[in-house]
Amino acid sequence: EAPLSPHAEPGDRDVESTLRPRRLAEFVGQSRVREQLDLVLEGARRRGAPPDHVLLSGPPGLGKTSLALIIGAELGSAVRVTSGPALERAGDLAAMLSNLVEGDVLFIDEIHRIARPAEEMLYLAMEDFRVDVVVGKGPGATSIPLDIAPFTLVGATTRSGVLTGPLRDRFGFTAHMEFYSPEELERVLRRSAAILGVDLRPDGAEEVARRSRGTPRIANRLLRRVRDYAEVRADGAVTREVARAALAVYDVDELGLDRLDRAVLDALVRSFHGGPVGVSTLAVAVGEEPTTVEEVCEPYLVRAGMLARTPRGRVATAAAWRHLGLEPPGHAPG
Ligand code: ADP
Repeated sequence: EAPLSPHAEPGDRDVESTLRPRRLAEFVGQSRVREQLDLVLEGARRRGAPPDHVLLSGPPGLGKTSLALIIGAELGSAVRVTSGPALERAGDLAAMLSNLVEGDVLFIDEIHRIARPAEEMLYLAMEDFRVDVVVGKGPGATSIPLDIAPFTLVGATTRSGVLTGPLRDRFGFTAHMEFYSPEELERVLRRSAAILGVDLRPDGAEEVARRSRGTPRIANRLLRRVRDYAEVRADGAVTREVARAALAVYDVDELGLDRLDRAVLDALVRSFHGGPVGVSTLAVAVGEEPTTVEEVCEPYLVRAGMLARTPRGRVATAAAWRHLGLEPPGHAPG
C-alpha cells in the first residue's frame, strides 16, 4: 500500500468512478484548461462537427481520464476507452477505429506507449478518417483503404516529451494540466466528502490538502484513510487533529513526503553530502527502481523545493537539509 502514489492503486478503482466529476462545470481547478476546452467544445457544437483531437498532458492523478470522459459527456457522445500498452498490434486499433460511430470520442490513455505500427495507423485515421487495412502476407499483400466515422481522439500522456513529432502535430489542441493548489484540493476534498458522507471539517480539509502533493487522486485516497481513523479512533469528524494523527499512522509527513521520499533525501544528504549524484545511484542507495525515484519521488521533491536537478546530477537544497533536521552546508542551493 502506497498512500502517496499518484498512480491508481487497486483500492482506488471503484471509489474513483464514484468521485469523478461528470461535467466541465464540476471539474475543480485547471481554470485555463477548462476555459480553453470549453471554447473548443462550444466551437465544435456550433459548427456541428467533431472537435479537434485533444491531447491531455500532465502527471498522473490530475484528472486526465476524468476530462476525457467529460469531453464525451459535454458532446453527448460515447467514449471508447483504450490505452497505448493495449494497442500492441495495429489490428487491435483497426478494429476499434472501424467500430466508431460518427462523433464518438476515442480515449487512448498513456498514448506515448503506443506501438509504432498502431501509431502510424493513427496518423491517417486522425487526419483523413481512414485506415489502411493490410490483407495477406508477403509480396501478395495488399492494402485496402477503409473509411471510418469522423471521431475525436483524446490522448492522455504523462510524458509529452517522448511523443513523436508527427503524432503531437496531429492534435489540434493540447491541454497542459498543472498540479493543484492547496485551496483547489480543499474544494476537491469537500466535494468528495459530500459524496462519501464524510464529516470533513474546514481545518481537517486544509490539513489533508496540504499533504496531497497537488494531486486530486492522492487527496481522495488520504481522505479515505483519514475517514477510517476518524470512525475507528474518534467520533467520526475529520478535524485537523484527527487528520494529523491518521496521516502519522501512514507515514505521511507535514509536507506530504512519505518514507521513500525521505529515504531519497536522507541518502542524498547523508551518503552523498547533498550531491550532485546521478538518479540511478540514488535509486540503488534506497533500494528502488530508478523509474520510481524519477517519476514518483522526484517531481514532487523538486516542486516542494527539496531537490534540484542539475546537469551533474541531483542536489539537495537547503530546505531538504533543514527538513531532515540538519544544518545546510554553504554549498547547498536555495
Ligand atoms: P489521471 O487520468 O490524470 O491519472 P483521473 O482522471 O483518473 O486522473 O483522476 C483521478 C481521480 O481524481 C478521479 O477519480 C477524481 O475523483 C479525482 N479528480 C481528478 N481531477 C479532479 C478535479 N479537477 N475535480 C475533482 N476531482 C478530480
